[in-house]
Amino acid sequence: MNDKIWLSSPHMGGTEQKYVNDAFVENWIAPLGPNVNGFEADLEKYTGVAHAAALSSGTAALHLALILLGVGEGDDVICQSFTFSASANPIVYCNATPVFVDSESDTWNMCPIHLEEAIKERLAQGRKVKAIIPVHLYGMPAKMDEICAIAKKYDIAIVEDAAEGLGSKYKGKPLGAFGKFGVLSFNGNKIITTSGGGALLSDNMADIEKARFLATQARDNAPHYEHTHIGYNYRMSNICAGIGRGQMEVLDDRVNQRRAVHNYYMKELGDISAISFLLEPEGFYSNRWLSCILIDPKHKVKREDLRLALNAENIESRPLWKPMHLQPVFMNYPYYGNGIAETLFNTGLCLPSGSNLSESDLERVVTVIRRLFK
Ligand SMILES: *Cc1c(COP(=O)(O)O)cnc(C)c1O
Repeated sequence: MNDKIWLSSPHMGGTEQKYVNDAFVENWIAPLGPNVNGFEADLEKYTGVAHAAALSSGTAALHLALILLGVGEGDDVICQSFTFSASANPIVYCNATPVFVDSESDTWNMCPIHLEEAIKERLAQGRKVKAIIPVHLYGMPAKMDEICAIAKKYDIAIVEDAAEGLGSKYKGKPLGAFGKFGVLSFNGNKIITTSGGGALLSDNMADIEKARFLATQARDNAPHYEHTHIGYNYRMSNICAGIGRGQMEVLDDRVNQRRAVHNYYMKELGDISAISFLLEPEGFYSNRWLSCILIDPKHKVKREDLRLALNAENIESRPLWKPMHLQPVFMNYPYYGNGIAETLFNTGLCLPSGSNLSESDLERVVTVIRRLFK
């Protein structure tokens, strides 16, 4: 059996262990320390956002963003339906109602038309819409000009889920820098990883200080343990942050490598008329975290046929994410759209996309696909 080819696996740059070793030498084996501070400074510099809090996960960052916005029982939060469940779960943690919005076909992200429709209808029903969560799925920027204009018109905060979009840019500006809050993830499968981790970004210093406070059990300033707020244990460890500092040194390389993988698939599969790709509209720059293809539903080869053929050759692939409004756990919440995300789910496949794939790995993937579509 050939070696397993993974969808997206960790890719260390080489200096991570030095930062981790520093933590051991100085005994900063804790959820604070020089690596945490250094990693936050790296993220601020890279994204251009003034303040970053390094946290235990992207999910924790989303949860804290909603808490800081005062989201609670009876509130609505509008969320892109075509995403990973972690975008929506924190809405339910806050006892608020997720309202799901469909995607548009240019970027596969939140459709501005359905977004405005959802806001208008929910407001007309007397609901309080507290936040909008657009997602830059697979690294492709959402239509931020349109989404930001609607958010401004109705005075609703944007929590930008850039968990998959670190290193991407929209009209020259890094993702994560558009919302009142930006959210990053450093989970093991993301473009860079700290083994597990996330970050909350904001230009508002008081908000990020409050996030750090809530993330370390909300300990008030007193010699004993004194609490006036419910706290969370959401801070990033100084060990993980050391990995993050090393990874930041190679982030631009990782973006270039992932983009090269996507270009390779476009070049090698571009002549198969039943296969199409997500193209970058003018001004959109994707980190190509995952390379995705769509299969023409009229073709006899189906998405699942291809996934199984790859799997038989020890190659991991995955259907495009199943929309939240179709998930059993979210089925009873409101949804605005007309089936774009559902079609993407039914016809799309994520191909191996790691920055550490070799030329021969990529050849193996393409060979299986070409054989099936011959
Ligand atoms: C990975 C991911 C998250 C959650 O990040 P974790 O660090 O795994 O908690 C949130 N949203 C999207 C779109 C993601 O892909």
